[in-house]
Amino acid sequence: MISENLREVRQEIQKSCALVSRSAAEVTLVAVTKMVDAATTKAVIDAGVCHLAENRTDKFLLKKQLFTDYPAVQWHFIGNLQRRKVKSIVNEIDFLHSLDNLKLAAEIQKRAINPLKCFVEVNVSGEDSKQGIAPGDLMDFIDGLAAYDKITVVGLMTMAPAAATTAQQHELFAKLRKLRDEIQNRELSWAPCTELSMGMTNDYQAAIQEGATFVRVGTALFKE
Ligand SMILES: *Cc1c(COP(=O)(O)O)cnc(C)c1O
Repeated sequence: MISENLREVRQEIQKSCALVSRSAAEVTLVAVTKMVDAATTKAVIDAGVCHLAENRTDKFLLKKQLFTDYPAVQWHFIGNLQRRKVKSIVNEIDFLHSLDNLKLAAEIQKRAINPLKCFVEVNVSGEDSKQGIAPGDLMDFIDGLAAYDKITVVGLMTMAPAAATTAQQHELFAKLRKLRDEIQNRELSWAPCTELSMGMTNDYQAAIQEGATFVRVGTALFKE
């Protein structure tokens, strides 16, 4: 049941926050609805979650159409975004979690009506299979985004390898936090970079203990 799963996840968020003396109000739960149908998506909204995430442009657009009566819902796009798909969704989403190349940035610049809140995706683990900017290239990338006034870098995003141990999760998330702090400390007008999008079903407790402000949770909410 979604309401029970949601209660459990919220409890875990509380516990993880308490361990490091954070307030749970600092952590936004983003429900990843990519694997569930419209009825189940509606159930999680009705249960009180107003941040939803999808990872496919076509499925996202179909789903968003069904929820025009829910203006409070904030839509997050967490998948790889192809340049040719930017036009169709850039003015439909509230947050993009996967900005990792300047060609994509240029396309967003061309198509967006208002500045888009973006997380820059960083490949902290260095896995070949992962999207994202290498940590060593991040500062140049952030500097390159200065030219695009339709992009606001609200924070950084990463994914830990599925096989990572708890200790490795902590190490990786702490690295992203340090990178976030470095950018935030520069006080760049186009990159306030106050947020950290990290943590999924497997590792959101570790992510919160390392400072996550947005956790992206699917399986833990929608499991039977
Ligand atoms: C699917 C997905 C999630 C949610 O994963 P769960 O393990 O089901 O919680 C989070 N972030 C991204 C980028 C995803 O693709």
